[in-house]
Amino acid sequence: MKITDALLTMGAFHGRTGRAIKPEGIVVHYVANPGSSAIGNRNYFENGSNGNGVSSHYIVGLQGEVIRCIPETEVAMHAGAAYSNAYLEQAKKNNSIFYGIETCHPGSDGKFSEVTNQSLLELCADMCIRHKFDPIKNIYTHNEVTGKNCPAYFVKYPEAWKKFKNDVQSLIAKSVLPAGMVNLTVDGINYQIEATNKDGTFYSTLQTLTKVLGPNQSAGIRSVLEANGYSVSWNQDLYRITAAKSTAIEAQIEKENSVDVHICEGCDE
Ligand SMILES: [Zn+2]
Repeated sequence: MKITDALLTMGAFHGRTGRAIKPEGIVVHYVANPGSSAIGNRNYFENGSNGNGVSSHYIVGLQGEVIRCIPETEVAMHAGAAYSNAYLEQAKKNNSIFYGIETCHPGSDGKFSEVTNQSLLELCADMCIRHKFDPIKNIYTHNEVTGKNCPAYFVKYPEAWKKFKNDVQSLIAKSVLPAGMVNLTVDGINYQIEATNKDGTFYSTLQTLTKVLGPNQSAGIRSVLEANGYSVSWNQDLYRITAAKSTAIEAQIEKENSVDVHICEGCDE
């Protein structure tokens, strides 16, 4: 996925206020103009969008090209209007906290082509990694935050939307994890450590663990962390061990599919 900058001119007319964003997630849109191009939609923003002053951070095109219209430090004008009373309060804050991605589509059903969908997945995964968004909880349809029928295909087929978010999650898990590594999060800091999976139990070396936890750690990852007052949980989908000293996580441990994590003592790994 290659991103090309075609930033909008500063000014409310062009949908670019320059106001700082406090990002909490991503809102996915469809352009609702079958066959229109990414650059065409960008120019529509630039030329004042029929007096509406709307915009988005990115537009994903019919060939999978990605255009950046607004830097990720600023707000875009893409989800500020409520489409039913239920969304009035939510709509007021949407643009302050959400990135907007417009997506081009060939037909009136709003379904994204394979290449367009792939670029959208990669863009969402990249943004989730950089901003520490949870792809399941922090990516929304325009419909979910304003009630608008957008993107129409995902509104009509909720299972396709669910799959899209799961695909982002898988892409993140793959793209951030080289082979033979697991994610280890300690007090909110992410590490990737070498580990070997044997029958569902993860083994790492003392040398690897001491890099993360300090010297003199000779037991398994879980027991080392627990001995140091951490609560430990394991997320199979993300291949992530999460350790935190907060009490909040303790309730999750029982529910999650926990596995024991041991150091492979005395072996050559
Ligand atoms: Zn929309």
